[in-house]
Amino acid sequence: MAFERILGHERCVSVLRRSIDSGKTAHAYLFEGIEGCGRRTTALAFIQTLFCASNTGCGDCPSCRKMISGNHPDLHLLEPDGTFIKIDQIRALQKELSLRPYEASRKACIIKDAEQLNISAANAMLKTLEEPPGNAVIVLLTTDASAVLSTIRSRCQLLRFAPLSNDTVRDCLVERGVAPDTAVTAAAVARGSIGKALEICGQETLSDRQDRIAEFSAVSLSDIAGLFTLSERISAEKNDTAAILDTFVSYLRDVQTLLYGGSDIANRDLLPLIEREAARLTPDRVMKRIASVMAARQALQYNANTRLALDLLFIRLAQC
Ligand SMILES: [Zn+2]
Repeated sequence: MAFERILGHERCVSVLRRSIDSGKTAHAYLFEGIEGCGRRTTALAFIQTLFCASNTGCGDCPSCRKMISGNHPDLHLLEPDGTFIKIDQIRALQKELSLRPYEASRKACIIKDAEQLNISAANAMLKTLEEPPGNAVIVLLTTDASAVLSTIRSRCQLLRFAPLSNDTVRDCLVERGVAPDTAVTAAAVARGSIGKALEICGQETLSDRQDRIAEFSAVSLSDIAGLFTLSERISAEKNDTAAILDTFVSYLRDVQTLLYGGSDIANRDLLPLIEREAARLTPDRVMKRIASVMAARQALQYNANTRLALDLLFIRLAQC
C-alpha cells in the first residue's frame, strides 16, 4: 500500500487517505515542508492510490507498477526551468491536462518549488487550479507557503509537513545500510530531512566537516587574503555550498547549547571543537554568527552570487 511507505506525517496521510475514500479530493493541494522531508514521496503515494485499480495503492496493478517505475503517462511533473516556473511551461501543462487520460480516470501533476511560479505563470495557472480540465488533481510543493503567491495559495488545500524526528531519520538510514553511529550523527545534522541525511551520508560531508568548520571558525580580518581565498575555493564547489552552510549552522547551534548548559549536542563527533569554541565565544557572538550564516544561506536560496555571499559572510564572521 503506497501510503504505508511514508515515514511520519500521519496527519497529512490521513487527510489524503480520507479524501480518496470519500471521493472528495481537492482540485489542488499545497504541500509545505522542508526539503527532503517526504512531500514529494507523499504526493506520489497519493496519486498512486488515486490511480490504483482498487484505490489502495496496491503496488501490483498495472497502474501502480507504472507509478512505481516512474513512467505513468497520466502523471506530469513540473519544476522550474532555471530559476522560475515560466508561463510556457504552464501552457504546456494545461495542454497536457486537457487531453483525455490514457489509463487513469483523471490526470495528475506535481509542481515542485511552487514559490518559483513567476507572476505571469501564476496568473495563467489560476483558472486551472479552480477548474482543472478533466477533474485533474494538482499537487504543488513548497518549502515556504508564505512565499507562494496568495492567489495560488488560496486556491489550494494546504498541508503542512513537519520535519521528521531524529529517530525516524536515523531508522530510515540504518534500514538503508548506513552504519548506526553515522546514522545518529547524520540524522542530528539533517534536522528532520531524510533527503539531506542521505546526502550527508552519500558524500564525504561527515568526514570533511571537521576541516570545514575549523576553516570557517578561523577566518580573521587580519588575514583578508586568506579569507577571500577560502571564499573563492568554496564558491567553486557551488553545489555543496548550501550543505556546508547548514553544517556550520548546526555546529554553531551546538556551541550555543553548550554555552547555555545544555547537553543535547547534535555533532557529537565534533565535541572537542565545540567545547573550544564555547570557551572563546559569548552567546551573543554565537547568535550573531548564526544570523550571518542564515542570511548567506537565504541569499543563496534566492540565487545570489555565491562568491559575493561568501565574501560578505566571512567578513561578518571575522567581525563577530
Ligand atoms: Zn494498484
